[in-house]
Amino acid sequence: MKIICVGRNYSEHAKELGNAIPEVPILFMKARNALLQPERAFYYPEFSKDIHYEAELVIRICKNGKHIAEKFAHRYYDQCSIGIDFTARDLQQQQKAKGLPWEIAKAFDSSAAVGTFVPIPAEKGVQDLGFELSKNGSIVQHGYTGDMLHSVHQIIAYSSTFFSLNTGDLLFTGTPSGVGPIAVGDVLEGWLEGEKLLHLDIR
Ligand code: ZN
Repeated sequence: MKIICVGRNYSEHAKELGNAIPEVPILFMKARNALLQPERAFYYPEFSKDIHYEAELVIRICKNGKHIAEKFAHRYYDQCSIGIDFTARDLQQQQKAKGLPWEIAKAFDSSAAVGTFVPIPAEKGVQDLGFELSKNGSIVQHGYTGDMLHSVHQIIAYSSTFFSLNTGDLLFTGTPSGVGPIAVGDVLEGWLEGEKLLHLDIR
């Protein structure tokens, strides 16, 4: 399986990092070793001094496909969760300044934490979901999927023109504003539509 991630998919987050609003989704990937399964702790890596959380809606792909038309994209996913795209912001800034790839800052082991997967709430639809992330009991990010610059269906269509999608692949759909640093001892929790799906201890 692979993990496809979207950068700058909420305008307020693009602005908080001083980035321009993208015309097409900015894609990057994480490999299988980046996946941090539910209820496992995140161990702060020694190579960074500025790991940030980025809470995101995560979509699970349920069918193989390539060149998927946007109007058929709804057939290719069945479940969602809240995930955290852990980012070594210090390394990312160095890489961006040099125009180099982001993998060491974004795709390191355990950098893609996911909560429990649940069916897409049928009565709401994937672009009408609210989610929150708390750090040590205080809400630090509040997202609404209707604010995405590129919808889940647009992301599936666009990414599948380059990469075949396979059952079990995960799509991290971008983070809203409010990203920030973590420290050893922190507890992160994520909610989707008021249901707690993610609990993560930072060690
Ligand atoms: Zn992200």
